[in-house]
Amino acid sequence: MNDEVVLITGANRGIGLALTKQYLINGCNVIATCRDDATTTELISLKAQFSDKLLIELMDITCPETIHRLANNLSQRNISLDLIINNAGYLDSNNQSIHAINYADAELSFKVNALGPLFLTHCLLSLLNKSRLCKIAIISSSKGSLSKPQSVDWYGYRMSKAAANMLTVNLSTELADDNVAVVSVHPGWVQTDMGGSAAQENVNDSALGIMQVIANLSIDNTGKFYDFNGEQLPF
Ligand code: NDP
Repeated sequence: MNDEVVLITGANRGIGLALTKQYLINGCNVIATCRDDATTTELISLKAQFSDKLLIELMDITCPETIHRLANNLSQRNISLDLIINNAGYLDSNNQSIHAINYADAELSFKVNALGPLFLTHCLLSLLNKSRLCKIAIISSSKGSLSKPQSVDWYGYRMSKAAANMLTVNLSTELADDNVAVVSVHPGWVQTDMGGSAAQENVNDSALGIMQVIANLSIDNTGKFYDFNGEQLPF
């Protein structure tokens, strides 16, 4: 029986929900976080199936108070974490040109995609089960790569995913001696609300690929950027 404890943000839909299902099927314990009670219908049906393996916690990644509350709740239950998956994401889809920028929308991208994962990691660090290898995954995007030439679009999203990749690099350097390995993962172009129905990848295939990348993660390859097929991407 797999006794690993995995915390997944943005677990109520899309890739986060698919990851939650697959980790539960694998026998892991999952702490599924989402920001709103009203969006937990699918998680509640999973709870009926995996009652003692699934804990649903409310947390808004842009709200430090709710991140603190989550950390306190887990600490009071004496929960130790083996893996944190920073999956929640926001796309400022209208910010496609420097001539038309909505500042609040770009700021929200930074809060959800970069600053939230930074603060969540800070608050959960003491709960990591450092008696064995612990892992932190950041669901990034190839759109955040500084090296891949691409068309201009989504200023806040792309800048914030580049910042999230820097979080991976910083954390991997600082936490390697504590037996914590860190990775950025591009999930592919996935059929979710964010990716749209024209996207290439099925959400379950993406989730399984992400899980394989995380399974292959160790201190030897910490601080890198992979796509869901396991191909290394340039930062
Ligand atoms: P979805 O839009 O389907 O889901 C986004 C998730 O993030 C939802 O659970 C949403 O919760 C949550 N979220 C948004 N804002 C907050 C917040 N303030 N606090 C907590 N949770 C929040 O996206 P995907 O599943 O497609 O994306 C998952 C990750 O994959 C993201 O990081 C995204 O950038 C990345 N990605 C996706 C790609 C794709 O093609 N789909 C491509 C490249 C990267 P709520 O329901 O409450 O809004």
